[in-house]
Amino acid sequence: MTSNPLLKDAQWPPFDAIRPSHVAEAIDHCLARGRQEIQRLMAQAPEKIQWLDLEGFKREDERLHNAWSPVSHLHSVADSEAWRGAYNAALPKLSDYATEIGQNKHLYAIYQALHQQPLDQIQRKIVEDALRDFRLAGVSLPEAQKNRFKTLARELSELGSKFGQNVLDATMAWHHHITDKRLLAGLPENTLAQLAQQAKSRGLDGYVVTLDQPIYVSVMTYADNRDLRQTLYHAYTTRASDQGPNAGQFDNTPLLMQILKLRHEKANLLGFPNYAELSLASKMAESTQQVFDFLYELVAKVRPKAQSELEELKAFAAEHGVTDLQAWDVSYFSNKLKQLRYDIDQEALRPWFPLPAVLDGLFEICHRLYGINFRRKNNVAVWHPDVEVYEILDDGEVIAGFYLDLYARPHKRDGAWMDECRNRVRWSDGTTQIPVAYLTCNFNPPINGQPALLTHDDVVCLFHEFGHGLHHMLTEMDMPEVSGIRGVPWDAVELPSQFHENFCYQAEGLRLVSRHIESGQPLPDTIIEKIIAAKNFHAALAMIRQLEFGLFDFHLHADYDPSRPKDPQAVLDEVRDKVAVIKPPKYNRFQNSFSHIFAGGYAAGYYSYLWAEVLSADAFSKFEENGLFHPQTGRAFRKTILAKGGSEDPLSLFRQFRGRDPQIDALLRHTGIIQCNG
Ligand SMILES: [Zn+2]
Repeated sequence: MTSNPLLKDAQWPPFDAIRPSHVAEAIDHCLARGRQEIQRLMAQAPEKIQWLDLEGFKREDERLHNAWSPVSHLHSVADSEAWRGAYNAALPKLSDYATEIGQNKHLYAIYQALHQQPLDQIQRKIVEDALRDFRLAGVSLPEAQKNRFKTLARELSELGSKFGQNVLDATMAWHHHITDKRLLAGLPENTLAQLAQQAKSRGLDGYVVTLDQPIYVSVMTYADNRDLRQTLYHAYTTRASDQGPNAGQFDNTPLLMQILKLRHEKANLLGFPNYAELSLASKMAESTQQVFDFLYELVAKVRPKAQSELEELKAFAAEHGVTDLQAWDVSYFSNKLKQLRYDIDQEALRPWFPLPAVLDGLFEICHRLYGINFRRKNNVAVWHPDVEVYEILDDGEVIAGFYLDLYARPHKRDGAWMDECRNRVRWSDGTTQIPVAYLTCNFNPPINGQPALLTHDDVVCLFHEFGHGLHHMLTEMDMPEVSGIRGVPWDAVELPSQFHENFCYQAEGLRLVSRHIESGQPLPDTIIEKIIAAKNFHAALAMIRQLEFGLFDFHLHADYDPSRPKDPQAVLDEVRDKVAVIKPPKYNRFQNSFSHIFAGGYAAGYYSYLWAEVLSADAFSKFEENGLFHPQTGRAFRKTILAKGGSEDPLSLFRQFRGRDPQIDALLRHTGIIQCNG
């Protein structure tokens, strides 16, 4: 059994040895040990159990996490038939096990008894969260309903997984071969090189356009060829749906209908009128009304500005001969207008942002803010040659580590995210596990032996994910339930991520992350000024889109009626009628690849981005007042927001840092949607 690499008690998973064939054995082993621990606890009267008696059970839980985390990660970044099979086979076992624990009355009684004992503040928070989670797993339900809940949980986990797999398959299933380079006019050299590479890897001459995110974004932004933009837009926005070039293949429509139905039933079982209410039971927002009020208040404030931004864009496009601005024209003309107004272009900035320079700058910024240092680690196994590994040092001691997997490639999911590889834990005997993070992005890979050259948007994205990473890695909590992002309400997790984006829009920050690939010089002040001036360009259009997604998600879950389930498309259309200023074409099936809410953790929670942006913008304003790298302010942010994980509620942590409640106007000021004195 010890030969199974997933079961090695290793700080860094042995990725060179892990195979799909290890999964079933490792998971079965961990679940059996976990069940043994539960039996041991159940052999004693609940009120006899002391806090420390739970540690054996928690250790098994951590062992299970450590075995599963590499599996789940490889399934996301190195997908194959074998990995998918192993992953899918384990899902129902994990779901059943989680439900079993959540519905175990004896364990529930143990936590209820602990709740009566004298506890410190962190223990109390852990016990209260646990009691809530028992209730949300149906611990108090009659037996038949418990079983139904278990079935629902398992089916939902499988449906979510299938949803994500369909999106990946649909993304990879489409490509467009072009031999006439003239059809690609306007595309930057960097993109052309990627397209040529795509063709070569398929044994074709010329160029191949794919739905890989960096390629999609580049074509939509730069291709002068309107037909090409439309073709790509059509293929991209109909992925995994009943529309588009692969209509009906990988179609997620029945899955998302089923997901909504089962979520609603699950909420009802637990006594909630709908899934949105269930979602909020573990979030910072207090009621569905509060979320709707928050979102619609923003709509009212932002929409007029978005409308005027659009009018201006339409006029600009008309000057260039396009009098019927379409969805596939928006990025293109928006970028042209931005170039004209600010003389700034993402592609032209690439030479200033070679990856090594960006990392140096990122690390230096973190050093100044939090006093930490970084060190490359070479003797660690990885899953792909592009992956780099680093350690974080504090006072010379290694306190955390992370994997950087930054480039787009086939069989890797799109988007960018942070995930937990190892959590910080310190057991009662003093043994410690340091936190390790996976940081995953989908940037253009390096070409022609040069380091990867990032756009400024890429740099912002990296800072965002790194912010999540720091939340996970700079935690000082010893207990696994509240270390890192664990125990943090989902609508507050985007605080550290969005907070760190701000450093990419400050002169000092920009100088630190830039170093021209040829001259070795940092960005000159003239360009820095332009980047900062352009920061809020079309900010209202961007925010109105986030509001559209957030409201769609929330209405979808809050208004669900099982007797007459609405077509999600109809819900989306209604939201768009009220909110959107740009109406996409009828065939657009954005919802069919909306993995955030159907295959990720954002169900009835997409509003979290904007919710947390109020917190992050307001937190950052303290740095604007005190100085960007003001050491005490940086240390205070680390010690409150980053260090304390889920050990206190986020509002209280925010107040400790800011000295007052968050203000919604901070967000609007920050994005230039309202003026400072208005
Ligand atoms: Zn994020």
